[in-house]
This record gives sequence, structure tokens and C-alpha cells, in this order.
Amino acid sequence: MSELLASLAALAGFVVGAVAVLVIRNHNENRRAADVTDQTDPSALLPQGVASVLAVLPSSAVVLSRADRVLRASSAARAFGLVKGDHLMAVELLAMARQVRRDGEIRESEIEVAGHKFGQETTSFAVRVAPLGSHGQVLVLAEDQTERRRVEAVRRDFVANVSHELKTPVGALSLLAETIQDAADDPEAVTRFAGRMQHEAARLTYLVQDLITLSRIQGGEPIPTPGPVSVDESVHEAIDRCNTKAAAKDITLVAGGTEGLRVWGDDELLVTALRNLIDNAVAYSPEHTRVVVSARPAGDSVELSVSDQGIGIPESAQERIFERFFRVDAARSRATGGTGLGLAIVKHVSVAHGGEVTVWSKEGSGSTFTLRLPAFGGIAIPVPSTTTDPLEAAK
Ligand code: ADP
Repeated sequence: MSELLASLAALAGFVVGAVAVLVIRNHNENRRAADVTDQTDPSALLPQGVASVLAVLPSSAVVLSRADRVLRASSAARAFGLVKGDHLMAVELLAMARQVRRDGEIRESEIEVAGHKFGQETTSFAVRVAPLGSHGQVLVLAEDQTERRRVEAVRRDFVANVSHELKTPVGALSLLAETIQDAADDPEAVTRFAGRMQHEAARLTYLVQDLITLSRIQGGEPIPTPGPVSVDESVHEAIDRCNTKAAAKDITLVAGGTEGLRVWGDDELLVTALRNLIDNAVAYSPEHTRVVVSARPAGDSVELSVSDQGIGIPESAQERIFERFFRVDAARSRATGGTGLGLAIVKHVSVAHGGEVTVWSKEGSGSTFTLRLPAFGGIAIPVPSTTTDPLEAAK
């Protein structure tokens, strides 16, 4: 029985082997045949060196044969959906290729192609189509412009927003100056309007200061000279700078959590971020409440949170509050002297440190903003204070 099985197995092996040899031979013959046709049809061959040049080009590159068949396409061209199989998918490009083949003129244009990524509507390309060699081949180069266009749109919006934000206090100042001129013989009115001018001038100063800070840190560049930063000192300095505003509303500022933590970064930027968060906590909280600033170790990071018992932020707005000039309630933000840039600065400070900022908030209950920053030395361990009071030590 076992002998029979062995012979059957041997026979099956022979049949499979024979079939495989036939298939491989057939395939090789087909390939040779295809190679022969390719070599005999010059319009299906790339001019020498073109393949290596295309391989180093950053843009999507496609070479079309005389019959509009794709002879070569870079992986980017396929990834963007410009090419499927041996077909060029964008009809505008095919039309351009035909015109170029007809008159030999290089053509440039901007085209939009249905988005290849989920959620992306269209991709914009700057394209250049040129004749290649003497067999009717055409080279198509396409540069993805989507990101450049997005950045341009953001920049345009930003400039429009800044102009608008500057116009308001400047307009108010000029109006107040006129009013003071008209009220020259009413000292009481002059004092009142001069006070308002001071208020508008201060607003302008905050806005310009915030714009300068933002322009220094945005752009995703890391901090130029990072070093160990004491969290306790930064928290205390930020609290000190916000104390006057908090006292005016009888809001208590409390520092808590783990002491002796250090982060890797820039102390001035960290104080700026904390001050903006505490400033907001005070601005958007009712009188007689508490704002708690707390630090805690979290593995290779330090978490710094600022919690308030304020008005909270509607869920629908929580994603947008870190955008420049986004405000839940524009009138309220202006009334509290807000520039609309505070949280954008906090976000950029956290990114520049290689960290992140998150928010938890409930309308009517309060908000907690958490800065998570890389710990100095790669692990968050509290360092006991080394400055001992000499008098205490002598006891
Ligand atoms: P602003 O100068 O207007 O405060 P920010 O960028 O600091 O600008 O904040 C953006 C918006 O986020 C604010 O206008 C406000 O609507 C909301 N916001 C920020 N912090 C808080 C907070 N602690 N409580 C409630 N709302 C807040």
C-alpha cells in the first residue's frame, strides 16, 4: 500500500514538474517575443539615459508612446492616480500631449485631478509637457501644488486677519484723538478719553507682541538653544505675571503637583505659554474662583495642567481654539483684552519643544489645558532643591 502511495506521489511530482517546466518555457518565450517587438518598435523604447534621469526627478513623471500608451511612470505618478496600468488618466494631460506631439512646442499648465487621498477633494498639479526624442514620445512632468496652495491660502487669511485686528484699535485711537481735540476745554472729558486711548494703545501693544512671539516660534523649527528648565520656577514666574489680573477678580492662583521637575526647552517660551493659559483661565472665569497650575511626571514627559472653574468651551469649538484669531465669543475676547493669538502661541511653543497641548472642557464647569513636554534627561524624575538655606544648614 505504501509502495503504491509512493509511486503515485512520484507520478504526481513528475506531472507537476513537467507542467511547471512547460509554463516557465512558454512564459520565457512570450517574454522574448515581447522584447523582440519592443526592440523592433523604436517608439516603444525610451531614449538612452531617460530612465535614469526620470528616476531622480522629484516630480511625477510619465513617458507616453506615439499611441498614448504609458511607457514609463514614476511611482509618484501612479500614487497620485495620474496613471493606471498603461493609461494616462487625466484627459487634459492627454490633450496637451497630443498638441505637443503635433507642433513640438513645450506646454505648461495647472490642472486639478480628483483627490487620491481619503477626504481630499482635488489635487492641483503644475504640469509641463514636452516632446521626447524623435518617435512621437512625450514627457509629462507634474508637480503637486496642493500643499503650496494651502499654505498660500493660510498666509492670505492671516494677513487679512492681522490687518483687520490692527485696524480696530488704530481706528479707535484716531477717533479718540479727534474727540479729545474737540473737547479741549473740558478737562474731565480729556482725562476720560485719554484713559481710553491708553487702553487701545495697550491692546495694540499686546497684539504686536503676540505677533512677534508667534513669528519667532511658528514654522515648526526646534528651539535654537534648548536646556534644562525648572518647572517650579517657570510656574511661579507665570503666576507672578498674572497675579494683578487675578487679584482684580478675586481669583486665587494655586501651584500644585510634583515639585523639582525639569523639562528640556526654553524657559522664556515656557513661561509665555503658561502665562497665556493662566491669563485665559482668569479671563474666562467668574470672580472668586480658583485656577490651579499643576505639574506631574509622565514617563519621558512632564505634564503641566492649568485648570479653571470658568465658562468652559463648547465641544464644537474645542478643535478650533488653537487656530490663530479663532474666538468662541469675539466680543467677550476683546472685552478681556484678548488678541486671539494666545492659544496659537501655546500650541507652537509645545510643538517647538517636541510636545503637545490638549484641552478638556465642559461648558459651565470649567476647562483644563494640559501641556505635555519632554522631560530633561529623557525621564521625568523630581530633583530635590540644591539651594539649602545656610542658616538652616548651620542649625
Ligand atoms: P483670546 O485672546 O481670545 O483669549 P486665545 O487664543 O487665547 O485667544 O483663545 C481662543 C479662544 O478660546 C478664546 O477667545 C476663548 O473663546 C477660548 N478660551 C481659551 N481659553 C479658555 C478658557 N480657559 N475658558 C474658556 N474659553 C477659553
